[in-house]
Amino acid sequence: MNVLKFGGTSVGSTENIKRVIAILNNYSQEEPVICVVSAVGGITDKLLKAGEFAQHKNEHYLSEFKTIKEIHLNLLSELIPNQSEAVKEYVESKLASLKSLLDGIYLINELSPKTSDKLVSFGELLSSYIVAETMKSQGLNAVRKNSQDLIVTNSKFTKAEVNYGITNMNIREYFKNANQKITILPGFISKSDSGEITTLGRGGSDFTAAIIAAALKVNRLEIWTDVNGMYTANPKLVKQAYPIERLSYQEAMELSHFGAKVLYPPSLQPVLVLDIPIHIKNTTDPNAHGTVITSDKSNGFSKAAKGISNISNIALLTLQGNGMIGIPGFSKRLFETLAQEKINVIFITQASSEHSICFGIDENDAALAAESINLTFENEISLLKIDPILIEKELSIVALVGDNMKNHQGISGRMFSALGKNNINIRAIAQGASEKNISAVIAEKDVKKALNTLHERFFEDQTKQLNVYITGVGNVGERLVEQIHQQKKYVKEHLKINMRVIGLSNSRTMIFDESGLSLKSWKEQLASGEKATLEGFLERVKTLNLRNSIFVDVTANEEVSKIYADYLRESIAVVACNKIACSSTFENYSNLKRLSVKYNAPFLFETNVGAGLPIIDTLNHLIASGDKITSIQAVLSGSLNFVFNNFDDSGSFHDVVKQAQKEGYTEPDPRIDLSGVDVARKILILARESGTKMNLEDIENDSFLTENNLKSDSVDDFYKTLIADEAHFQKLYASAKKNDCQLKYVAEFDGEKAKVGLKEIPKDHPFYNLKGKDNIVMFFTQRYPEQPLIIKGAGAGADVTASGLFADIIRIGN
Ligand code: ADP
Ligand code: ASP
Ligand code: MG
Repeated sequence: MNVLKFGGTSVGSTENIKRVIAILNNYSQEEPVICVVSAVGGITDKLLKAGEFAQHKNEHYLSEFKTIKEIHLNLLSELIPNQSEAVKEYVESKLASLKSLLDGIYLINELSPKTSDKLVSFGELLSSYIVAETMKSQGLNAVRKNSQDLIVTNSKFTKAEVNYGITNMNIREYFKNANQKITILPGFISKSDSGEITTLGRGGSDFTAAIIAAALKVNRLEIWTDVNGMYTANPKLVKQAYPIERLSYQEAMELSHFGAKVLYPPSLQPVLVLDIPIHIKNTTDPNAHGTVITSDKSNGFSKAAKGISNISNIALLTLQGNGMIGIPGFSKRLFETLAQEKINVIFITQASSEHSICFGIDENDAALAAESINLTFENEISLLKIDPILIEKELSIVALVGDNMKNHQGISGRMFSALGKNNINIRAIAQGASEKNISAVIAEKDVKKALNTLHERFFEDQTKQLNVYITGVGNVGERLVEQIHQQKKYVKEHLKINMRVIGLSNSRTMIFDESGLSLKSWKEQLASGEKATLEGFLERVKTLNLRNSIFVDVTANEEVSKIYADYLRESIAVVACNKIACSSTFENYSNLKRLSVKYNAPFLFETNVGAGLPIIDTLNHLIASGDKITSIQAVLSGSLNFVFNNFDDSGSFHDVVKQAQKEGYTEPDPRIDLSGVDVARKILILARESGTKMNLEDIENDSFLTENNLKSDSVDDFYKTLIADEAHFQKLYASAKKNDCQLKYVAEFDGEKAKVGLKEIPKDHPFYNLKGKDNIVMFFTQRYPEQPLIIKGAGAGADVTASGLFADIIRIGN
């Protein structure tokens, strides 16, 4: 004998009911089957809603009833086109009784738990009837048996407790004489010993099936639903979740108790004592393996954590006060009070100081709990021995579950650090001594992020998802998007990093896609995106609340640089090629560094100096390994290099600068490059990263420009002064030539001070042969005292800058 239970979705449509019948027919070829069905998907909710409308004198209950009626009549006419009068009459008379019950509730505007149970019982009564009659109409040997005749409970309406003595006897008695191949029973519903309709709690059809399976000591219980088993996390919230092949009863218990709705927790008890395996299967994918739940704990030794689950709508209550310390009986009185009010406690923690007890309950019970506890401890509260109870709401519990977690070290450490890194504040923690379950109370708004973070940490082959938001998609930004698009697959396969661009913005518009923007058509999408603002962009990043979020600034805009702090405070990493933040005041620079450490959010700006060259990264590594920078000498301006490499007495300085601008080597305003400000900013950043407190004004800038050049107040004007002062530049060139030198614009830092300026570089110097737009940096350190550590290569250009940004993003992924 087999017991199969089919849930709401499985009997929720004509198509699915046909699938159910095919499965049952198939099974019944071998041996008799017992089939428990839920109400048609969504009907229990609709019945309760109709009842609530009626209770509140709201005539919407009529339209709710009409929908319920139509759903059932449609199923009936589709499944049994030529139904007999008797069948039609039965269904119509049931619907008529339902209607008069609702009318009654409307009339007296009252809906007691007892009436509520009577109301919802229609769902299972109708579904089981329709399924059974459909089978009969197809000539199958099927019968419907009302489980209310078998399952006897107490009168705790809406969640009645089973009287196993009588129930087991009834079930055995009935099936001893039954000779049908297929018996259909309604799940969820039962009768009290005084004959009133009761129910077994929401989701209780699983329980009905388990009770019957245990009473008959069958070989296994199958729960057929709409997913491929019990997943590593709720598949509706975690896309990467996957079905768990095998679980122990205890693991399944913990997961379902903490919210894995696919199995109603009380269903485990009756079968586990008899060691009857439970198999969770998918009605729409019957060949999928599903999940097998048994007493075997040895399986899965390789994986410590088996799944994560979550319960929402939690209120955390804290009872605290010095009067509790060392005095026995406080907890007893506290939990007795809750038990008297029939309030279920989901989570408890007590600090070892015994100064406070903290527990989690359903948010709907919070007010009642607080009132009754304050009453119980009225005396102690008035004597100030303990404080009135503290309530916090809008919380959730996430729980990591696995029998073998106790054999692995550091699991809770990994769990909490993963949450912490993603700015998920933990309000309370509980870990049972058996260590099957580690649970944390967090804000409701963080649940999805927490589940995905933990899932990635414990179940995803170490593939890390990075959620990237890019602001500024000009020349460099566009290349960066292209590089991400092109390298996505490689990075996922080789570096185990799943890079997704979630948001893009230019100064006009912005676009977002929570599951990753299409990097093929982003330009068209962005053109018709919503209006962009910096604050609006930040708000969206915050609301999306995705783990491992990274904000990338590919602008040269001061306003954008001012918003980094807001990102870092949300534990969102910042990657910038914009130099303004790091070369602004020392206070701002060091504040951003401090926020980065405090909120565990990387702040990377490798491209601020030398585009894609690994200059800052190398510097950071030298310092981290205990080296000390004694001096830095560098050529850091691609544009100035281009200018001086191309300038000689055969052409004018003016023309060379014009050409550099035309070829994109200078800033739109070439004065920023030629005045040396850009180079000064770069050496400032290197000096700061070397550990020196310095500001831009502290850098000696020995300009090679003339007073006229420097005083020009527009770019055009500047070019005019270049023509006028051509002789000055020719003189610089002639002197260098005479001394057999090359002109290079050099930045220097001696460990304390920094300066920038044009220099004549002799033939034997490493700077002499610097070509094109190349940069070079020489680090003299304690470990590299005479022969410096040299980094050299292209220090400007969209492609190399984009690849520098790309590398910073990857650094965060690692
Ligand atoms: P049925 O109507 O078949 O009883 P339920 O809706 O009660 O189905 O339970 C199945 C649903 O449980 C799934 O559709 C899924 O959304 C939800 N669920 C939550 N957590 C899990 C989990 N860990 N594994 C599988 N399903 C889960
Ligand atoms: N129909 C009931 C409910 O929705 C029981 C069940 O589906 O298991 O809660
Ligand atoms: Mg269910």
